[in-house]
Amino acid sequence: MFPSYADHILHFGIVGGSISGLSAAYWLRRAGHIVTIIEKHPIQVFQDQKYGGLRIPPNITRLFKKIDGMEDTFQKKGSLNEGTLFYQEETGEVVGRTLFEEELMADLGSKYYRVPYSDLWNHLYEFCKACDVRFKFDFQVARATFGNPGKEVPKITSTAGEEFHCDVIIGADGHNSTIREMILPDLLHDEDSSDSDELDESSKAAHFPNIEEWVTFSIPLDKVKNDSDLNFLTQHYFGVMWMGDGVAHFSGIEGNDQYVINVFYPFRRFGSDDMDWDSTEPIPVSAEEIEGTECVPLCV
Ligand SMILES: Cc1cc2nc3c(=O)[nH]c(=O)nc-3n(C[C@H](O)[C@H](O)[C@H](O)COP(=O)(O)OP(=O)(O)OC[C@H]3O[C@@H](n4cnc5c(N)ncnc54)[C@H](O)[C@@H]3O)c2cc1C
Repeated sequence: MFPSYADHILHFGIVGGSISGLSAAYWLRRAGHIVTIIEKHPIQVFQDQKYGGLRIPPNITRLFKKIDGMEDTFQKKGSLNEGTLFYQEETGEVVGRTLFEEELMADLGSKYYRVPYSDLWNHLYEFCKACDVRFKFDFQVARATFGNPGKEVPKITSTAGEEFHCDVIIGADGHNSTIREMILPDLLHDEDSSDSDELDESSKAAHFPNIEEWVTFSIPLDKVKNDSDLNFLTQHYFGVMWMGDGVAHFSGIEGNDQYVINVFYPFRRFGSDDMDWDSTEPIPVSAEEIEGTECVPLCV
């Protein structure tokens, strides 16, 4: 499908079939290489993922525009981000605003979108499939060995014991990467220890005062539109930052049918350090817990 630019055609094994993995696969195929994506989840987790979206600022939009039809997908399935309104949570007063004005966006060469995760993923996936990227879903990588030039090729082994050989392994397996842990174990552990040793209490507080955890959830846009108290939030495409005393909420329209809210908690609520793409269990949050943050929900 693509002309080959590479002098030597290599077989890349990319661990992680999310946004970075698919993007890397597409560009490597364009350069003429053979690419296999290895992903621990089944495909359904990505194709109909209702729980996340991506804020795509102009520098990333500019990159994605190089993939045919991507900006069209952003325009049809995503929503524009026009800026941010800052509200004082206790009084409902608007205390500041950032506007992404047309002139500024023109200078940056692109717009700022919010796009539901599955719409972006499906677009990249269809492109990868059309250019013969190979896929191994349900393959959780347990370990990788990086080979020995001229003697043995790199090898990836799944938790079920299946083996996969390629010329180059790419780690696109997220922020808790198994591959990074294998390539850079010493560096990672040095960084971990230097982080905790060097940051004293005052500098930690300066990064994230009192915020232990944040949670994202989405509400069908129609429900927000049909609520007379909340309808005003759907009259524009600004992100809305509600700033309280030690607590914050950030919300906005995402795509055609979701209103997304991030709640920043001053305490550890869910007891887990991480979420994954298959974390689809609904998590109840009670009014008492929100009150426990000393923030009183307010209609303005
Ligand atoms: C639930 C959730 C909601 C989010 N919501 C937002 C949002 O509203 N707005 C926003 O801007 N960003 C959001 N994000 C963050 C954004 O989605 C990430 O920044 C983006 O997905 C990063 O892409 P990535 O490809 O680098 O990594 P990831 O999306 O983390 O992908 C890593 C991939 O590697 C796979 N993998 C990991 N380990 C292995 C292994 N051992 N073997 C095989 N495969 C493996 C994982 O299953 C995953 O598919 C959210 C993330 C999550 C998890």
